Amino acid sequence: MNAHQPNASPDERRTVHVREVGPRDGFQNEPETIATADKIRLINALGRAGFKRIEVASFVRPDVIPQLSDGVEVLTGIDLPDDVARMVLIPNSRGLDNALHHRELYEAATLFVSASQTHNMRNINRSVEETMADVAVMGKRILAEDLTYCAVIATSFGCPFEGEVPMDRVLELAEQFAASGATEIGFGDTTGMCNPAYASRFFAAAIERLPGVEVTAHFHNTRGQGLANAYAALEAGCSSFESSFGELGGCPVPKGSTGNIATEDLVSMFHEMGVETGIDLDAVISAAREAQDVLGRKLTSHSIVAGPVIWHPAI
Ligand code: ZN
Repeated sequence: MNAHQPNASPDERRTVHVREVGPRDGFQNEPETIATADKIRLINALGRAGFKRIEVASFVRPDVIPQLSDGVEVLTGIDLPDDVARMVLIPNSRGLDNALHHRELYEAATLFVSASQTHNMRNINRSVEETMADVAVMGKRILAEDLTYCAVIATSFGCPFEGEVPMDRVLELAEQFAASGATEIGFGDTTGMCNPAYASRFFAAAIERLPGVEVTAHFHNTRGQGLANAYAALEAGCSSFESSFGELGGCPVPKGSTGNIATEDLVSMFHEMGVETGIDLDAVISAAREAQDVLGRKLTSHSIVAGPVIWHPAI
């Protein structure tokens, strides 16, 4: 075990948080628009699986992402246990205005930026600097509403347009988020460019530079290294992860590639290693299978195909 984690003892590290992002990151990037009633049913199923935080909606413009235009209906329709925080993604001040009209429907708000200038321009049509200037204002408004303020930095491990993204640049942006009041910061491997050795170095450095912040790993499996990266981050002291049930979604660049790591595969790996998640693996697999029925096609996470491990080796 790496001894780099300053804010958790080795014992505490054996429990990790897994945040489900499928209803936003997943549904957004699937080619089909999923009916509101189906989204509500699937999110309620996830709510029964033991997640403490689920990203359920986004306040992006409906003409930009029509798949998520029913966010308010979804938030109004879902029925989650009281201890499950509902998270929403907010792209800019306008989205925040809209989101705050529905303040009672969620507990956590997530702001985001891409570490790569080109990716940020293509994604939200603004420079990184413009986005971060807006973040400073939005962060205050989020905290004033007594919401949990989260942040995500996309293309933290490489950009499909620019290539390498320096670690220092990513961590400086994270420090800016922390300075504006964010208490949870996720690092997204948007197009699957991370590798386990880099994940190990990166998360050790991130945890050291962001005291008091919940540092979260958001890996994609685009090049088959998602779970290996999650393991490396865990060993470096990271205890918070984001993933998507059914392996839904993820960035559609490069075209046709896999996106998010599957929650059921991540949870299965942790449980087999003796790492607690508080999540009912069977319930996640059954929610993912229900998503297959809704989409009308096979989903290919390992745990959907093979089922959970039955033989438990001595840990
Ligand atoms: Zn993702």
